[in-house]
Amino acid sequence: MQNILIVEDEKKVLALIKEGLLHSGYKVEAAESPEAARIIMRSQKFDLIILDVMLPGTTGTEFAKEIRSSGWTGFILMLTALSTTLDKIAGLDSGADDYLTKPFEFGELLARIRALARRKADSKSRLQNGSLVMDLISREVSREGIRVELTTKEFSLLEFFMRHLDKVVDRNLIARQVWGTEFDPDSNVIDVYINHLRKKIDNPFARKILKTVVGQGYVLQKTE
Ligand code: CA
Repeated sequence: MQNILIVEDEKKVLALIKEGLLHSGYKVEAAESPEAARIIMRSQKFDLIILDVMLPGTTGTEFAKEIRSSGWTGFILMLTALSTTLDKIAGLDSGADDYLTKPFEFGELLARIRALARRKADSKSRLQNGSLVMDLISREVSREGIRVELTTKEFSLLEFFMRHLDKVVDRNLIARQVWGTEFDPDSNVIDVYINHLRKKIDNPFARKILKTVVGQGYVLQKTE
């Protein structure tokens, strides 16, 4: 968490945040509008965007949606003058990771940035697809906050799917990558394990995400 882009049209606030962050050892770029931010983002990589909600032209919420749909995966910390629950939800729905209500103490901003940096360190040991979360260290799996108990092989199979989201994988690839053997057409072991996994991660939930693609294999669908 080193490179930060601030998008804020109020020059005073922008200067204050920029100075403070530079002083704290971060590399900082500043943009006074989403238009300016788009240009800077074309040539530089950022870990975090501090994004004001009230901006000229595109709002912060719209800009967050735009960069998320373009596939940008860094952190977004939204600055809002409004602190109602609805505004918070709108901000988080648009793809922000956290938000801070103006006016705020600079120390609070630094604390939020450090919290996001910790989250980033954690994310390396976690795989996530919507509400389906795998902790690769504690080996805990949950969906919609409900713990799912998997055997070692089911865990490996799910990990394989989580690393190939939205890709149709055939039994040859699953056999090689999860079982470490060539696929045996006389054996239905893969299908049996897929069914076990489906019972645990799909059956109890409304949306089914582990799909069979007839004649091709299986796919774990990506969810928000
Ligand atoms: Ca503003």
